[in-house]
Amino acid sequence: MSDIIINNQPVLSKILNKIQKSNTNVQAYMLYGDSKEILRNYAIMFAKVLICPREYCDNCNKCNICRRIDNNVYGELKIVNPVNKMIKKEAVLEVKETFNTESIEGKNGVYIINDVELLNTSAANAILKFLEEPDGNSVAIFTTTNLDAVIKTISSRCQTIKINNYKVKRGIEFVMEVSGFDEETIYKIVDFTKKIEKDKAGAISNIKNEFINNFDNKDALMNALNVMLLYYKDMLNYLIRNKCFYFDVNDVKLALNNQDKDLISRKISFILENISKLEYNVNVLLFMDNLIIRIGEMNDD
Ligand SMILES: [Zn+2]
Repeated sequence: MSDIIINNQPVLSKILNKIQKSNTNVQAYMLYGDSKEILRNYAIMFAKVLICPREYCDNCNKCNICRRIDNNVYGELKIVNPVNKMIKKEAVLEVKETFNTESIEGKNGVYIINDVELLNTSAANAILKFLEEPDGNSVAIFTTTNLDAVIKTISSRCQTIKINNYKVKRGIEFVMEVSGFDEETIYKIVDFTKKIEKDKAGAISNIKNEFINNFDNKDALMNALNVMLLYYKDMLNYLIRNKCFYFDVNDVKLALNNQDKDLISRKISFILENISKLEYNVNVLLFMDNLIIRIGEMNDD
């Protein structure tokens, strides 16, 4: 069973893995942090881990439950949002109604209450009763941006999880940002990398000259190698996670051929090593020769 790894969310990752591996879980979780949007997204993901009858993975397409959750049409996941800055008792009772019978489809029935600090007193009492007398296998996920304002009798019954406020930058915009190149230049580097992978020892001198003409100083060359690095990292992402973070999946698959994780990892360390060497390297031509030849050779190791 593979681990769920969420960037910059070590606590959440740990708890989700524990849930996934043990099948036992706490009855109520409280996610808190600064951004409502991020909290809501992670609450849904959390719910999927609790519900998915298979091993949860990003974009699970093995069960149609996760798909229905994405489309907001899955009956055993109830989401309550405040109306006019208040969560009323009726909304809570409606949730309770749903889970009166034991959940049949997913592993658990889950209800999410967002902005749980906005529960009015009678709604809070209804929740408490729900938490004290659980029926079936329903699990609560509460979110709040103001943990101190949540009624203590509720928060004390939850496992609280801090959600860090950080969005991972991805996509071609990220590559543009780190390299300072426009999209066209970035795809030139991608094409060059594909050629290295395809031609191996063959047309190397040709493509090398072309490359060096385009990136004719150390700074530009270093940025180009960083783009190349992200491209190889995406090959690894594809092999490990079945998705890419920076480039189009189809574009990445093309250069991958039959290479395995180990070979790609070695290439990544090799490029990293060379990026740090480049600073001290006077002869750029020789440097590129070595780089290209060595990557080609790795394919035959
Ligand atoms: Zn699923």
